[in-house]
Amino acid sequence: KSRWSLTGMTALVTGGTRGIGHAIVEELASLGATVYTCSRNEAELNRCLQGWAAIGFSVSGSVCDASSRPQREQLFDKINNVGTNIRKPTTEYTSVEYSMLMATNFESAYHLCQLAYPLLKASGVGSIVFISSVAGLVHIGSGSIYGASKGAMNQLTKNLACEWAKDNIRCNCVAPWYIRTSLVEHLLDSEEFLDKIISRTPLKRPGEPKEVSSLVAFLCMPASSYITGQIVSVDGGMTAFSFS
Ligand code: NDP
Repeated sequence: KSRWSLTGMTALVTGGTRGIGHAIVEELASLGATVYTCSRNEAELNRCLQGWAAIGFSVSGSVCDASSRPQREQLFDKINNVGTNIRKPTTEYTSVEYSMLMATNFESAYHLCQLAYPLLKASGVGSIVFISSVAGLVHIGSGSIYGASKGAMNQLTKNLACEWAKDNIRCNCVAPWYIRTSLVEHLLDSEEFLDKIISRTPLKRPGEPKEVSSLVAFLCMPASSYITGQIVSVDGGMTAFSFS
């Protein structure tokens, strides 16, 4: 089997109808994987599935709210991409917002890994790739709960990598900076905000979803078989930069 192919592999990509998840579905399918995806909006999901079928990609999917424990129990996971955010000062968050953000961003990933473990182990070559954020590494003004949920995911990466290495399950984490998706396009539409992002980014632009999905695909391939427990930023150099 080619070290640079995903032929014969199966992946679950949560949140595959837009943004980074959509790019990951296409990247993995184009490299030969059979992909299963989910999202909450059925009409959008069906539109995506029809489009992928038309170009010959092997993608199926169903509606699932990844923040719901019973709905997760119907799924197994290789990749968890789902994430959301509410930005506000720490003292203004309600307990409902706290629970919603932690359930969507962290608990979904944690529980999907618990559910997926027997299947990943049986495969003999399991690979988990979390989509975290640079907000889990440094303060970027995105709100403290989002940062904490992504920081927890970064640490979970290391724990699972070590705990499940005996089963040849690798676990890595991709931490993006601003990527043009529906999650943040309202922010990037503001010229002032965009200028602020660009001034902090050595490559002088936000990223594109395809620039994240390529790394995710690599981390799923036999070519990355000795890489585990790592948090890799896809950030145009942002976390390497202090000031100039
Ligand atoms: P988008 O909002 O563009 O896309 C999110 C996708 O996930 C959609 O398909 C959405 O479909 C689905 N989704 C959202 N919530 C749920 C849920 N509870 N259950 C099932 N599906 C869900 O987001 P991005 O692509 O920008 O973000 C993807 C990941 O990347 C997130 O974890 C985010 O935190 C992270 N990230 C993004 C950055 C960026 O700048 N864009 C930067 C750093 C990290 P639907 O709404 O129909 O459910």
